Amino acid sequence: MKWYKKLHWQIIIGLILGLIWGLLSSAIGLQEFTSDFIRPFGDIFVTMLKLIAIPLVLASLVVGISSLNDMTKLSRMGGKTIGIYMVTTTLAIIIGLSVVNVMQPGKTLPLETRVSLMESYSDAVGDRDEAAREVLDRSPLAFIVDIVPENFFEAASDNANMLQVVFIAILLGIGIVKIPIQKGEPLINVFDALNEVIIKIVDLIMKTAPYGVFALMAVVIIDLAGDDLGQAVNLLQALGWYTIAVVIGLFLHVSIVYFSLFKIFSKMRLRDFLKAIQPAILLGFSTSSSVATLPVTMERVEKNLGVEEEVSSFVLPVGATINMDGTSLYQAVAAVFIAQALGMDLTIAQQLTIVLTATLASIGAAGVPGAGIIMLVIVLQAIQVPVEGIALILGVDRILDMIRTAVNITGDAAVAVAVAHTEGKLGALHFDEEDAVE
Ligand code: ASP
Repeated sequence: MKWYKKLHWQIIIGLILGLIWGLLSSAIGLQEFTSDFIRPFGDIFVTMLKLIAIPLVLASLVVGISSLNDMTKLSRMGGKTIGIYMVTTTLAIIIGLSVVNVMQPGKTLPLETRVSLMESYSDAVGDRDEAAREVLDRSPLAFIVDIVPENFFEAASDNANMLQVVFIAILLGIGIVKIPIQKGEPLINVFDALNEVIIKIVDLIMKTAPYGVFALMAVVIIDLAGDDLGQAVNLLQALGWYTIAVVIGLFLHVSIVYFSLFKIFSKMRLRDFLKAIQPAILLGFSTSSSVATLPVTMERVEKNLGVEEEVSSFVLPVGATINMDGTSLYQAVAAVFIAQALGMDLTIAQQLTIVLTATLASIGAAGVPGAGIIMLVIVLQAIQVPVEGIALILGVDRILDMIRTAVNITGDAAVAVAVAHTEGKLGALHFDEEDAVE
């Protein structure tokens, strides 16, 4: 098959063309055209992915759980998943802190840039601050209470309720296992068929991914450039060291932590792993949303990495909601960067506080664009750095969101492989040659 017919190449081509179109339209004043006539296609693409996320999680998890004949397996798998998620998140923060303390990007930010950034983004900071305050005002165990829904339809009506849907699916699956097999079987067949249908729909949606990604990229660029492309370039330059620090941290995290995870828990090579889930990574990058990417992550992890459904259907939806290595690493770098730029030296105790709060803040962040920066407010408050400092980094946040989301997704998939291996549920690697887009 010709290389350019493969899906991941088509997505990369869409991404690059979208970038070029975005730059071109910002330079020649076609932003309005792009916004009016190209943006909707990106929106439709993301909305379609979101549309199938809840039914897919429900169907595949019910099928997965009901195939477990031994329920102790479920609690073992749950414990392992949460345990590995916590460890990788903590390591991500430690890597982020190490990079930002060595590079000290905040100390290189010129005073006049600092003042002008604080002025231009002060309104936007207020919105984030308010959103974070709503989270902080809640009781400490509210997040556990929130997992238990009082109404099935309400739970299924909002993608932000992913954990509630996981809860319902587990209950249903357990219920099915506990009744006589002849009674439970028709229900399993329904969910099984639904699952197959949705996986087919994911395939169909992915055929439009190159176009969707084109539109998403073009829009990111025009939004970023605003009315003045030159100003956006200046901003990127001013925040260059900060951006590089986050990117280096993320790169180190993937190459050290996931590499080690595979060394310990499976014999998979990091390169093969990344190749197998490439379309999911690219989609995470262009949508900036772990939840929107979830259907594709699940498909790739099952089909290409050989993770059995009973593992992937639990590990991945939970991961899309609570496991965000990229986000936690970024929060650590951002918090220290802001402190440095404001001339504050953080003590060891404050840096340890970052480890704790960034773990919680990344768990609390939703898998949607821009969630990480809202939860950053919580980290800043805990170390007594003024939240207004967020203004310093808002301008480049969208770009970093794309990269950290790609890492978040990679982390979920890596843990799925590790858990599957230890449970004896990891099949052979498989690269999809049939992924052609005709
Ligand atoms: N956009 C990220 C995600 O969906 C969350 C964040 O803002 O860091 O995984």
